[in-house]
Amino acid sequence: MMIKCSRCNNKAEYVLVDYRHEIVDEGEVFCGHHAFDENREKCPCCYDYWIEVYDGDTKCDVKLLPTYPQGTLDSEGCCSEHP
Ligand SMILES: [Zn+2]
Ligand SMILES: [Zn+2]
Repeated sequence: MMIKCSRCNNKAEYVLVDYRHEIVDEGEVFCGHHAFDENREKCPCCYDYWIEVYDGDTKCDVKLLPTYPQGTLDSEGCCSEHP
């Protein structure tokens, strides 16, 4: 199964999550081009932290990388998962 970017028709590679890697709201997903647009933030600790995506209640076997809404990351620019 392929999930498309919320902004274009490219394959989604990132999902919008909060500080604890919980998928945010509508579960917006983005391709590599759009992942960090609109002031979304990238955490240096979890470049390989794969998040399983659910379609309703069903796991759809897609794993995406995290992208964070502006202001989510802490003063060190990291999520809850510090190395
Ligand atoms: Zn896109
Ligand atoms: Zn992180």
